[in-house]
Amino acid sequence: MKAARLYGVRDLRVEQVEDPRPGPGEALIRIDACGVCPSDIRSYLGTRSGGGSGLPRTPGHEWAGVVVEVRPPADGDPEPAIKEGDRVVADWRYVCGRCYQCRRGVFNYCEHLRRAVRGGFAQYGVAPISQLRRLPNHVSFEEAAFCEPLACVINGNEMTPMALGNDVVVVGAGPIGLMHLQLALRRGARTIVSDPLAARLQAARSLGAHDVIDASLTDPVARVKELTEGRGADAVIVAVGAGEAARQGLEMGAINGRVNFFAGTYPPVELPFDPNLVHYRQLLVTGSHDFTPHQFSTALKLIQHRIVDVKRLISHRFNLDAVRDAFEMAAGRGGLKSMVLPAA
Ligand SMILES: [Zn+2]
Ligand SMILES: [Zn+2]
Repeated sequence: MKAARLYGVRDLRVEQVEDPRPGPGEALIRIDACGVCPSDIRSYLGTRSGGGSGLPRTPGHEWAGVVVEVRPPADGDPEPAIKEGDRVVADWRYVCGRCYQCRRGVFNYCEHLRRAVRGGFAQYGVAPISQLRRLPNHVSFEEAAFCEPLACVINGNEMTPMALGNDVVVVGAGPIGLMHLQLALRRGARTIVSDPLAARLQAARSLGAHDVIDASLTDPVARVKELTEGRGADAVIVAVGAGEAARQGLEMGAINGRVNFFAGTYPPVELPFDPNLVHYRQLLVTGSHDFTPHQFSTALKLIQHRIVDVKRLISHRFNLDAVRDAFEMAAGRGGLKSMVLPAA
């Protein structure tokens, strides 16, 4: 089969490789769609340390496709609920269910986490049957490929309580920020979105943002205060990995405000800030990282019932031979989500 292989910084090649073989309890899947994730771009650009280990490898963890072969589990396990011809999406986080974190329900920090599903920028992939969710007929593969990032966004939203009529700011209007925007709207929030790119603010407006701030022209902190009668935001989601965005997030928080640092920051930065800011405003500062199996299922449900519109977040589609163009597009923050369609 054909697969993309990352050899080093900006060195991504499409090559002929051995077809993957499913083991017991696994399925072989023809991959129809795989989304380009910011974490893929970090490996591609070499901005995350350790990115050079295990190369060459096939990136891609946001994928969906059709089951072409199922190998039943080894012994005594029940018949797998997945069969040939099923349209599926794969959750890459294979958790053990037995460690300290799993047993207290914090599955996103499983101590024996396996990256059981990778290599989405290829014609075929293998996944444990337990990691698959069957797609309702009207959910397209490219929509299903959003389950992974949307599951992360659901986790961030749940870590950042917001109530009816709250003023909620989303800093950063990339695909992640625009999913945060939609969840905040579904929570009944009044939403404000800040980004320096006009096209992204336009997308935020069309998805229902009440106010947008062009951060290339206006100080977002001052503008948020203006838009909230001087109070600041009840909740802020910092959906950009940058020290400046994190600082703005803290300064935007109102009394009793919640601030979620959703994005990882690479390269790491140190942020000088006045602890009085958190103390005197009773800010609740939260982080969020990855997602649980249930949040992945919830993501599919939100897509299935159009509670979150992910289709409008796709700005570019590429076939597998053009995967490098897809990465360059995402690396340059061109458009919104780049989707690779290996079966096209
Ligand atoms: Zn991802
Ligand atoms: Zn575990």
